[in-house]
Amino acid sequence: MLDYQAPQALLKDKVILVTGAGDGIGREAALTYAAHGATVILLGRTSAKLEAVYDQIEAAGHPLPAIVPVDLKGATKSHYLGMAETFAQQFGRLDGVLFNAGLLGTLSPFEHIQEQEWDEVMQVNVKSEFLLTQALLPLIRQTAKQHGDASIVYTSSSVGRKGRAYWGTYAISKFAIEGMMEVLADELENTAVRVNTLNPGGTRTKMRASAFPGEDPQTLKTPADLMPLYLYLMGTDSRGKTGQTFVAQPK
Ligand code: NDP
Repeated sequence: MLDYQAPQALLKDKVILVTGAGDGIGREAALTYAAHGATVILLGRTSAKLEAVYDQIEAAGHPLPAIVPVDLKGATKSHYLGMAETFAQQFGRLDGVLFNAGLLGTLSPFEHIQEQEWDEVMQVNVKSEFLLTQALLPLIRQTAKQHGDASIVYTSSSVGRKGRAYWGTYAISKFAIEGMMEVLADELENTAVRVNTLNPGGTRTKMRASAFPGEDPQTLKTPADLMPLYLYLMGTDSRGKTGQTFVAQPK
């Protein structure tokens, strides 16, 4: 899948929301989608990072993005509904969403998982994605009807399909995302909205470094290496693919 060659204008005229767009994989995806013609909505919690991505897209002469600073930990249903209304008014369409923002939490034995941290990780990794999906679905469905397709991509992990000791809440949250994807994909089977998960595999980012502090980052793929798959799932070449888990780095 990493050998997919995207046409330069793959995402021309499309509007794509990327969560966690200020750093790591989300940042690279936002830059890449813009370079392929999309107007990207940059959502994240650190404004300065989002502004830096904005500046980079502007300097490259790609379609000007929009910035939505929001902490997914504290946002509520009404925030998400307000966001959906703004997107509908401002853009009139939403062709794709990359749910990428995520929280690792503390790796620890199951018996030591703290309730507060469980709630935080579940809030950011699962509940915010459920609420945001719910709020955005009317606009996404309408876009698919008018323009032929739309794509929802959730970010999973290897520990979202096979649990691993000490990965506690993070692993459980990724299982929940896989479940959410399957439920939604099944419900939307007869529409032009496709819903999939993407497991990037070990990638050179801050999250990976905090999970594996002893690992040499140079041995890992970079976010840029993964972009062919991120483009494939967002563009029309993946039409008809739904309800699936895409693994960027199969063993
Ligand atoms: P990073 O930690 O580098 O980036 C995560 C992004 O999510 C950051 O931009 C961060 O914002 C944002 N974010 C975190 N919490 C919140 C919040 N409460 N509200 C808004 N935004 C938030 O992670 P990666 O790029 O490595 O990971 C991206 C996705 O890929 C995650 O879902 C992760 O679980 C998954 N993944 C990553 C792997 C890897 O090896 N890197 C392997 C498997 C899956 P800020 O910059 O402000 O902190």
